[in-house]
Amino acid sequence: MNYAILILALGLAPVLPLVATFYFWFTRWKYRKQAVSSGLKGREAALRLLSENGLADIPVDSANELVGDHFDPKGRKIALSPDVLDKSSAFALAVAAHEVGHALQQKDGYRWFGWWMAVAPYVHMLTFVFQIIVMSLALVFPPILFLLVISYSLLFLMSILTLPVEYDASRRAMAELNRSGLIQNDDERSAVRNVLIAAGLTYIAKAIQDLLLAVYYALKVFRR
Ligand SMILES: [Zn+2]
Repeated sequence: MNYAILILALGLAPVLPLVATFYFWFTRWKYRKQAVSSGLKGREAALRLLSENGLADIPVDSANELVGDHFDPKGRKIALSPDVLDKSSAFALAVAAHEVGHALQQKDGYRWFGWWMAVAPYVHMLTFVFQIIVMSLALVFPPILFLLVISYSLLFLMSILTLPVEYDASRRAMAELNRSGLIQNDDERSAVRNVLIAAGLTYIAKAIQDLLLAVYYALKVFRR
């Protein structure tokens, strides 16, 4: 029984996020080509939604390739990738509105967003360094692997914290696009929804991966 879970965890852990990422790429490829009736590019759509919400002071710039589309809560700015920033498509509209959704969370003092901002940057950086150290030390002293159980449990906790934040940003994006008239028909509505769902699935896959890895290392350590 334990052995079966071990194999399952080991097999599924890397596969799930890959499948979710491929699905997101496919969705991006599909909806990058779908024009929107407003004709607005991602930057223009974001700026319009921001200014309609009293956030005209938040700039919308190009994103670093590595980091990708995001809202920077400290610097108070939105960064969009080239596919979104200067393109007009259902994909660009969805992503731009999602990032505006994060800006609106900050404006409204959304509780989960504050939590997430406080924890996220440190957990990522620290766990990465920590895991490399533990894996190296495990070569000479295998029981130390139990520290990986803790670190993946922490990552899982963080992934779980991210889910309501991402879901809420997408929910706000959908509401804003409907309210502002940037979405004008059911075709556009379903395209934007599909992009947001595909993006959301990558976060869910990440959470499941962290859980599986925590279980995997727990079984590995405690079966000794
Ligand atoms: Zn987001």
